[in-house]
Amino acid sequence: MTHKHQALLFLPDALFDADIPFAQLTGWESNQQGYYWVDQNGQHHGYLGKPNGAMWHHTASQAYTPSVSNNGRTIANIYIGIWRTGRLWSFGGGEPLVVLASSGPANYSSGSGRREVLTQYVVADRRFPGPQQELDDAHPSFFGNRYYINTEVIHPGDGTALDPDVWDLQVETAAVISKHFGWSHWRNIAHQDHTLRKIDQRFAQGAPYTIRKHQSDIRVAMEPPREDDMPSYEELRTDEFDLWSDDNIMDAFDDGMFESTDRAAFELYWVTTRADRLDSEKARFITDFYSHLR
Ligand SMILES: [Zn+2]
Repeated sequence: MTHKHQALLFLPDALFDADIPFAQLTGWESNQQGYYWVDQNGQHHGYLGKPNGAMWHHTASQAYTPSVSNNGRTIANIYIGIWRTGRLWSFGGGEPLVVLASSGPANYSSGSGRREVLTQYVVADRRFPGPQQELDDAHPSFFGNRYYINTEVIHPGDGTALDPDVWDLQVETAAVISKHFGWSHWRNIAHQDHTLRKIDQRFAQGAPYTIRKHQSDIRVAMEPPREDDMPSYEELRTDEFDLWSDDNIMDAFDDGMFESTDRAAFELYWVTTRADRLDSEKARFITDFYSHLR
């Protein structure tokens, strides 16, 4: 019986459901590197272990042939690029594609770095104020591969723009992974957060510190569809919301906030002053409501 690291086996179904084009390299499910995913304390849980976050890289090349094991090494868990002539490319025609290469930990991409990024920020779902400024841990050293999902995006890393479709693929893939594990977008870090020795990722989209743009796009990608959870304009006009009898309307006039009785501005004021009913949806709600009225 083949033993499989379980943590990433959800990916084919989840990527399919998210309409993300992907391929599975033969053997990716059962790839063995001799160790397991470990928790933040370094404890392993056999084939049931889980990663703690996701680290994002560029390959520093224009093309790459992904493999489960390359000269005995598993470089990364996932590759993303433009599929053409049996390779993944950074530029040129082809199919933007996510390639699954290993369900178990890689043993190359992360390398040594700083443990505190994992323990103080990643597993706490806190923003790490990177890039890393400190030398790698020593005595003891800290190696990231058993802790992080490693994804290599095919790109020279020279600050030129990543293909927009590939950018979207990495954002959507990160969102699928983060949602599955219940992570915030802050669990997605750059190699240059982990270690001072590296500069990846580095694309025109946010270069030289691309991860911040990536993280903000992941956050948006994880939000539920807006139309589904936002009350419609008509719903807001129902008695439940008591739009027209609210004292705030008179307050607004008394305060001289409006030079006219422009209804849109008027209702914006109402929503703004009553938005505490809407809790965390407040800022987005106001913005959407106002744009709807306009
Ligand atoms: Zn890297």
